Amino acid sequence: MLFLIFTSTLSCQTEDRNSVIKDQLYPLPAGSIKLDGFFDEYIQNSIDHWNMGDLPYDQFVDFFRHGRPQFALGEMWGKAVRSGCMFYRYTNDPQLKREMDETVKDLLSTQRENGSISCVEIDKQPEESELWERKYVMLGLQEYYEWVNPDPEVLDALIKQADNIISIIGHAPKTEIVDIGWSATNIGHEPCHIESSTLLEPFMRLYNWTGEKRYLDFATYIVESGGTKHHNVFLNALNNVDPWEMAGNYPKAYEMMSLFEGLVEYYRVTGDPQYKEMLLILFQNISTSEITIIGNGGSDQPYHPNVAGEAWGNTALEQTNPDITRMMETCVGVTWLKLCSQLLRLTGDPIIADYIEKYAYNGLIGAMKPTGDGFSYVNLLNGTKVNDHGWGWEFDSLHVTCCNLNGPMGLAYIPYVAVMNSNSGPVINLYNKGNVQFDTPRKRTGTIVIDTDYPVSGDIRLNLYLKKAEKFNIRFRVPGWSEKTELKVNDEKIVATPGTYAEINRKWEPGDVITLSLDMRCRVINAPSGSNRAGDNFQAVVYGPVVLARDENIESNYNDSVFLQAESGYIRAIQEEPLSEKINLQFSVPVDDGKYITMIDYASVDNWNNGKHVCTWLPQKPYKIK
Ligand SMILES: [Zn+2]
Repeated sequence: MLFLIFTSTLSCQTEDRNSVIKDQLYPLPAGSIKLDGFFDEYIQNSIDHWNMGDLPYDQFVDFFRHGRPQFALGEMWGKAVRSGCMFYRYTNDPQLKREMDETVKDLLSTQRENGSISCVEIDKQPEESELWERKYVMLGLQEYYEWVNPDPEVLDALIKQADNIISIIGHAPKTEIVDIGWSATNIGHEPCHIESSTLLEPFMRLYNWTGEKRYLDFATYIVESGGTKHHNVFLNALNNVDPWEMAGNYPKAYEMMSLFEGLVEYYRVTGDPQYKEMLLILFQNISTSEITIIGNGGSDQPYHPNVAGEAWGNTALEQTNPDITRMMETCVGVTWLKLCSQLLRLTGDPIIADYIEKYAYNGLIGAMKPTGDGFSYVNLLNGTKVNDHGWGWEFDSLHVTCCNLNGPMGLAYIPYVAVMNSNSGPVINLYNKGNVQFDTPRKRTGTIVIDTDYPVSGDIRLNLYLKKAEKFNIRFRVPGWSEKTELKVNDEKIVATPGTYAEINRKWEPGDVITLSLDMRCRVINAPSGSNRAGDNFQAVVYGPVVLARDENIESNYNDSVFLQAESGYIRAIQEEPLSEKINLQFSVPVDDGKYITMIDYASVDNWNNGKHVCTWLPQKPYKIK
């Protein structure tokens, strides 16, 4: 029998005394979960080659010490540190802690005499991209304080930073928060400035830790200001406005969701049901009209050609539009995953976890460099899959963008959401192989060992280790796509309905075994109808949570029209040993005239610097009567 020892000295500080709304699900304490294989390989690759690799933390801090040569570069420090701290929450690696300790100390040494940690000299504050940068300073320090080291000096620095912001931002004679920012004047549009209002999240976190009313008052001021200069995005969410129309001609997807992450925290404290309604309507609208087959969203065409593919674009419906040149910024996907994790905690709705799974297995790891040192900026479904070009800076030989700073945070959220706890017992959201330690409702320690090669197969075995038999509930997510699921406790069959949690409430015995067999038949998905159809029809093939694609590295005719031999929405694809160890999954897929095409998981298609292309939506040959 296996009992694992975990050490965790920090408790989850987000379970705070100020919340009137209690979450349905909550994260397990730091260090409670250890994944093994699949996602863990991506996580370790990112930690080794990015967070503990070549990242120039000292040069990020220098922007605060000496100023910065380009707008918004002050975001880099906070983004790098927050993913490092979230990874530390998972790994407990002392070397990673040392690196975080060192750079936090370095940053604190740049705090100016008015309390600001800013790239801008005091007499020029507030400056256009300063609030966005300061938000990331606060989030980086907060992740450090919460998961690495609750050092009073860090809290003190956060308080000084926040108090300085309050002293300069607000109603006249101060500067209104929606009057400061760079969006969308940077592309010649009327001001939007949504990025500055994303200070909502760090101010709520600081309020939760200090109980100081002035931080809650500032959060209320942000919410009452509406989020942008000309459009109240909170009321627009409540009024069911489509995401791509929520902020005029600049509905930046990443910043908008970052703002609503803060609104989740604000709702927990205020308890006003209209904020929950805003959040749920926004989730519904993004999930149905923006999120593509690989779980990310936003596009340049047809609605916002000047916003570089970073705005909402009715993208779920437009995803096969051949006019799109840039779509699905990695910052957008990661922030969507984070917003989903907040809403999953709040509601306990398993459909939200389906969206996390969809992005994690496809868009997120599909954007990562095989070398681990970065992520694609925008991501295509058909064409050149990855594209590094976008806002960023060159450090010696390292190209750093917003997206390759955010990508690791997406990876760090996988263990955070994979298994959660609740007052009635643990909740399994993702089925990666691993070990999980949890407290039962009677506060006894239990361990779940998840044994599986998922997503290579859909067979999952969970062994439960308890010190003593106890009655409680375990919830197992049955993905919406798993039409026929077999679930058993020992030899007893349990009903498993797709798109729900199968709840098993029983007296669990030490050594109980749960087996789950998910429906991994390959599904054929028809492309949704958008605004631009030149007579082509497209279909895609999906295996469990994994989107398959054709890869020019494997077949030069990767883009040819085919006729998929589907029956009732399924296709008898043959799973094969992958051609190389860099490929996770490979299939032979039957098409017309008795031929087969090779498809691999979208994530494994490598278009980095080789001029090759991907084809995810397969152009369809018209049906031929034989
Ligand atoms: Zn980005």
